[in-house]
Amino acid sequence: MTVATASAKSACAMKTLTVLGSTGSIGTNTLDVIRQNPHLYDVYALAAGQNVEVLLGQVLEFQPRVVVLSTLEGLERLASGLRQKGLPRERWPELLSGPAALVEIATAPEVHIVLSAIVGVAGLEATYEAVRNGKRVALANKEVLVSAGQAVMEAVRRCGAELLPVDSEHNGVHQCLRAGNREQVARLILTASGGPFRNTPKEALDLVTPAQALNHPTWRMGNRITVDSATLMNKGFEVIEACWLFGFAPSQVDVVIHPQSTVHAMIEYTDGSILAQIAATDMRMPIQYALTYPERAQAPVPKINWQEPRAWDFAPPDMDKFPLLRLAYQCLQTGGSATCTLNAADEIAVEAFLGGRISFPAIAAVVEETLSRLPNRQPRTIGDILEIDKESRSLARKVTAERAGVAAPAEGGALRNSAVSVEA
Ligand code: NDP
Repeated sequence: MTVATASAKSACAMKTLTVLGSTGSIGTNTLDVIRQNPHLYDVYALAAGQNVEVLLGQVLEFQPRVVVLSTLEGLERLASGLRQKGLPRERWPELLSGPAALVEIATAPEVHIVLSAIVGVAGLEATYEAVRNGKRVALANKEVLVSAGQAVMEAVRRCGAELLPVDSEHNGVHQCLRAGNREQVARLILTASGGPFRNTPKEALDLVTPAQALNHPTWRMGNRITVDSATLMNKGFEVIEACWLFGFAPSQVDVVIHPQSTVHAMIEYTDGSILAQIAATDMRMPIQYALTYPERAQAPVPKINWQEPRAWDFAPPDMDKFPLLRLAYQCLQTGGSATCTLNAADEIAVEAFLGGRISFPAIAAVVEETLSRLPNRQPRTIGDILEIDKESRSLARKVTAERAGVAAPAEGGALRNSAVSVEA
């Protein structure tokens, strides 16, 4: 990972940002960090999927130059909202839609930092192109490295980009690794809250409802990652992400259940000494770190009060009860297209679970079956990865439908129009 040394002058200079996924949990937390530091950050572009109401408020507050929505229909609703709010036309941002527009705002020459927080593979191409353009990429979207780790990390090295992890565990590892000699680090330890079903007997998981799975004990996040936390798929993705980001072998990355989610990550040196990164359970801390690195600044997050008694627990994960974590390690070992299929199949299975079409344990079953039915390949380009992602989704839909006893739904309606603009 190339890390530029920022001079004191550049650390203070105003940075221009593109926020991909501005209406989501990470996106709104990012805008809160920016809100607290208006002298440091200028928002160049915001991108979202469907949530026009939240986006409208963000446009009025942060006045970006460009806004991207995933559909033309969404853009029309946004334009109508801007009209209703009486914003003069000359102050409207440029309104664009489609994947090519995402690439455009991620690579614009005036952009210093791209905050990548679109959920799923929809954020891959724009993030990859930001890397290829040598930007600082503050990476929340874990599907980018899970699906395309090799291609993205090769581009980071080739193009001198800075990839700074926003995911709290990887952010914690990044902070710990700054403390000593990387060559003397033997092991990374990622913590996991254990999710809402940490103490639920395996046999009772059949009865779990979407509402229960969405009730995460410590973090407030988007639906997909919340369900992935309940199955421990999220922790599996994080193991994959950690291997790519920091260059460790899967056998050097351990997961430990820590229900308080306050120790985010640890590194173990060859002599057995361990360093931990500890902070309040608030994503604004790692987001701000990724923006200000290598500097630090006051963050709008609660500090730990050491005058209060507290206990922190640690326990090994139950891979029998949560087989998706084991499957993530296996896919890493297999390499090739396995982790891309793992992510795609999981997304479809989670969607089916949230739609009430399959049970909670069936999420893992759908993913496992999809992996077993699709031959492993060696993707060379982002295009190859997007193709494998599409095939994996299609098969996962079929597997899901077979399990649910209904016909596979038609291919998802993700709009594939290239940068289409709406006239102000
Ligand atoms: P959310 O579901 O809350 O937000 C997802 C964002 O992506 C929304 O802004 C959504 O727009 C946008 N989006 C979805 N599809 C498209 C598309 N086709 N084009 C443009 N924008 C799109 O997810 P989170 O914020 O929780 O997570 C985002 C990413 O960060 C995920 O990859 C997650 O794994 C990762 N992450 C999240 C953490 C968290 O604490 N939340 C922690 C660590 C990692 P809209 O809502 O308008 O439809």
